[in-house]
Amino acid sequence: MAIPTRDHTDLIDRLGLPLLYREQKLGFIGVAGKPEGYDEEAILRFSELSSLLAGLLHVRHVYDERVASLAASESEVLRQKQMLNQIRDSVITMDLDGYINDWNHGAEQLFGYTPDEIIGKNILMLYADTHNDYPLFNAFLEYGSHEMTVRRRKKSGELFWASVSLSVAHDDAGNPCGLIGFIVDISDRLAAEETLTLHARIFEHNTEAVIVTDSNLRIISTNHAFSLVTGYSQDEALGKTPEILTNLPQTAFLTAQAHQQVNIDGQWSGELQFRRKDGRTFPASVSVNSVQGFHGTIRHYFLAFTDITERKETERQIYRLAYYDPLTGLPNREHFYTLLEHALSNVQRNRKYGAVLVLDLNRFKHINDSIGRTPANTILCEVGRRLSSTLRAQDIVSRHGGDEFTIALPEIAHRDHAGQVAQKILASLAEPFFVEQHEIMLSASIGISIYPDDGCDTETLLKKADVAMYRAKQTGSSAHLFYVQDMNQRSLDQLKLEGDLRRAIERDELELHYQPQIDLATGLITGAEALLRWHHHEQGDISPAQFIPVAEETGLIIPIGKWVIDAACRQIRVWIDQGLPPIRIAVNLSTRQFSSGLPRAILAVVELHGIPNDSLELEITESMLMHNTDAVVEMMQEFADAGILMALDDFGTGFSSLSYLKRFPINSLKIDQSFVRGIPVDLHDSAIASAIIGMAKTLGLSVIAEGVETSAQMDYLRNAGCDEIQGYYFSRPLPASEFAALLSKINQ
Ligand code: C2E
Ligand code: MG
Ligand code: MG
Repeated sequence: MAIPTRDHTDLIDRLGLPLLYREQKLGFIGVAGKPEGYDEEAILRFSELSSLLAGLLHVRHVYDERVASLAASESEVLRQKQMLNQIRDSVITMDLDGYINDWNHGAEQLFGYTPDEIIGKNILMLYADTHNDYPLFNAFLEYGSHEMTVRRRKKSGELFWASVSLSVAHDDAGNPCGLIGFIVDISDRLAAEETLTLHARIFEHNTEAVIVTDSNLRIISTNHAFSLVTGYSQDEALGKTPEILTNLPQTAFLTAQAHQQVNIDGQWSGELQFRRKDGRTFPASVSVNSVQGFHGTIRHYFLAFTDITERKETERQIYRLAYYDPLTGLPNREHFYTLLEHALSNVQRNRKYGAVLVLDLNRFKHINDSIGRTPANTILCEVGRRLSSTLRAQDIVSRHGGDEFTIALPEIAHRDHAGQVAQKILASLAEPFFVEQHEIMLSASIGISIYPDDGCDTETLLKKADVAMYRAKQTGSSAHLFYVQDMNQRSLDQLKLEGDLRRAIERDELELHYQPQIDLATGLITGAEALLRWHHHEQGDISPAQFIPVAEETGLIIPIGKWVIDAACRQIRVWIDQGLPPIRIAVNLSTRQFSSGLPRAILAVVELHGIPNDSLELEITESMLMHNTDAVVEMMQEFADAGILMALDDFGTGFSSLSYLKRFPINSLKIDQSFVRGIPVDLHDSAIASAIIGMAKTLGLSVIAEGVETSAQMDYLRNAGCDEIQGYYFSRPLPASEFAALLSKINQ
């Protein structure tokens, strides 16, 4: 606070004012002249009131004309009071000590005090706080009046912002005799100003780019974000139209539409393609609003936008993840459903056929295991590419995980067309795949269901195509099959069978039966074939012809095969220990068991049970020899070197090539029972059987005929030079104990 100067005190003297200082919050003590003993501090306090007085100078003429004349007469006072009351603003008059002596209607309304309540009280009563809102001392003295913005308190306690004009009033002699204050509540005005400032700040600091145009779309203002996003400075944009951003062919229609809608509805929002100053385009989320004048005419347009490139990219990624297989880039299961449903509704309208093909790669798990995951994935991608390039643009190719692909042919004129497409697909997959120095041959199984014959909805069509695929797979080679009615029930049974088979070993439901093999020359039992029996806990005995293919398909044949070898070797040990005549036991091997570790595994079991190596014979089929021959020859050689015997089962049903056979270290051929059945009546069967026997002799192999049911068959075979027979004529496959009894009876 300023210290009163010599001039100030002079002026105070000149005005004849008492020297004042504030003693307490609500009271003034007036002292004439500069009192003895009052220090600078007291004078300092005085400055507060001096500031008040300065304001009064400003309205001196008002006071001269109105308030001074009030004092003239009582009636004049009354008249003046009425005049004061007619003034809408609050007017307060007070003496030089701040004691209120008049209070108009406006003041009553503003503060809530009636004249009775306030007259005679000190003005400080109305202050919000008593320290901070005294006017500048200098200004007050200089101009005799002062205007200030201060906080005041109403009777209710409510605080408000007020504009106060204070003036000094003079008496007839020209001496200051009081103060007049005009007080206006400016809370609303301040709030409005604040809002405006706030809006300006928001406009400038908004992260959204903003353009304000006039009614002719000429840009009159832009904000900081606008320059950041578009590369145009405000100066470059002023006077232009927003077309600097929108003159793109793909945006023209939309902008015209947006403009029209803004003029009708007052606002439009949507996405537009914008162009930056450097020519690059970007997607923008835009909102346009019109600002109307008094008569409803558009005065301004207000355009706010954000660059949504990133959001669009994220949306695209989310969309891809949700609807596409990340490995092959093909639609995934969910997307396939949507696409197919949409396609089916079109087919329905056009009264055409549609087809769903479920494709599963054969033995892909094996490929995956042997070449590794990454190259296997490369193959899957290549499969996806081949499928897409084999099919037409409107066909839908998708991958539902693993090695399963699903294809929809949304419009085919005829059922058979689906079969032709399946063949084309299989042919394209039959071409070798080259991955990291590997040359991989693939085959696939395809199941087909037809719309509307097999179903009208995606779910049903997929399910039936799946069942048909499963059937096709059982044929073991590249094949396609159309769905037929009873497949479904059969495949459900298959599923249950599979589940039960998994638990068959733990449940101890497996058993080996032994079917004797008889030497035709001596009539003695020389060996037996171990045949697997499954005593199902609910269904009773299930034929191996039924469950072995399931075990092979599911891979369960591996643990089951191990169990068989172990059980057979253990049995041989038992019979040796029981002192039974030594014979060989033949065990059937499945192709899937035939892997490089097999010789070692089997020899370990043989060793474990301590049985002679040549007491075990392995029955393999021709199909095994046709696969991957070098590796197979090597493995068979390992068995042969170890003295394990080998028989070629079901001979005659496969390749049956002599030169082929020479490569393999086989001990005997088993003539398949399908040729034995017709002997001797069917000359064709008889001739084949004779030819096989002759061929085996030239190769130095012994021959055994299986499925011999009659003495006529036996006689024919003996005459043809066959070495041994196996069949119901001599004995059915028997449980171990019964076989042992038979063996001791015959061979003793
Ligand atoms: P397979 O190896 O050709 O076995 C001969 C099949 O002919 C056996 O059928 C046997 O019971 C049957 N059989 C024998 N004599 C006659 C006869 O005089 N008339 C007729 N009609 N049939 C006769 P089974 O036991 O039902 O086995 C069927 C097939 O299941 C076997 O054919 C073999 O391929 C497979 N199998 C059986 N046990 C095993 C096994 O432990 N492992 C593997 N991988 N396959 C097995
Ligand atoms: Mg066999
Ligand atoms: Mg056989």
